[in-house]
Amino acid sequence: YPPTATPKIVLITGASSGIGEATARRLAAAGHQVVLGARRTERLDALAKDIEAGAGSALPHTLDVADPLSMRTFVQAAHDRYGRVDVLVNNAGVMPLSRLDALRTDEWDRMIDVNLRGVLHGIAAVLPIMRTQGAGHIVNIASVSGLRVDPTAAVYSATKHAVRALSEGLRQESRDLRVTVISPGLTRSELTDTIGDQNTKDAVSGQMDIAIPAAAIGEAVHYAIAQPAEVDVNELVIRPTAQG
Ligand code: NDP
Repeated sequence: YPPTATPKIVLITGASSGIGEATARRLAAAGHQVVLGARRTERLDALAKDIEAGAGSALPHTLDVADPLSMRTFVQAAHDRYGRVDVLVNNAGVMPLSRLDALRTDEWDRMIDVNLRGVLHGIAAVLPIMRTQGAGHIVNIASVSGLRVDPTAAVYSATKHAVRALSEGLRQESRDLRVTVISPGLTRSELTDTIGDQNTKDAVSGQMDIAIPAAAIGEAVHYAIAQPAEVDVNELVIRPTAQG
């Protein structure tokens, strides 16, 4: 049952580092045209240059997923350029972990704005286009924190549980679209840089020596996209073998 090799227009949020960057590289190497969104545009420009030097195709575009207008502009730029949007990978995320009683309420808001509202903004921006096309694929990067809850991760886990819930709701409502949730475990990236609480940062950094490369998650995204149109990979959980 062979995977499809049809090139697709794939939009990736948070493509300036970590999992988003690794996913962009993997998909471009497979012949897909990738549209790269994030706030650090100099990183996106460098990545796009690198991809094009390897004979791939990439369009960098500034994006703040917390801003619905920015998301609409990002999706519109891709649609204007290529005439369709086949896949949206909602990957952008932040993880400023801390105990609830530290009351770092600005960080709670940030996680909700980026990890949850950002995904909703992405869905809202592509859904009308995909409906018109009668096809499309939304890949949401959740986390193993969407399957469990740990101290210091209450709000982060809440956003990731929510991403899994809304993905399932979207899937049930959208029999013309494919919806995939990918839940990574510890993965090497810049995510722990977003932790402002120093004790939590030290504790989490100590766990990262078993982390797997971001390319492992890029491979999972590639697998989900490459399945034939009638096959919807609903959920993948990918952890380091050594993770509890
Ligand atoms: P990184 O910090 O390396 O990447 C996060 C990406 O999100 C960056 O490209 C960043 O770009 C982007 N981003 C953050 N805020 C915004 C915003 N407002 N608008 C647009 N882009 C934004 O971490 P990861 O690669 O690890 O994270 C990717 C996803 O994987 C996240 O959703 C994370 O929760 C999830 N995940 C990661 C795990 C891990 O162990 N690494 C485990 C489980 C899930 P920029 O700052 O340039 O805007």
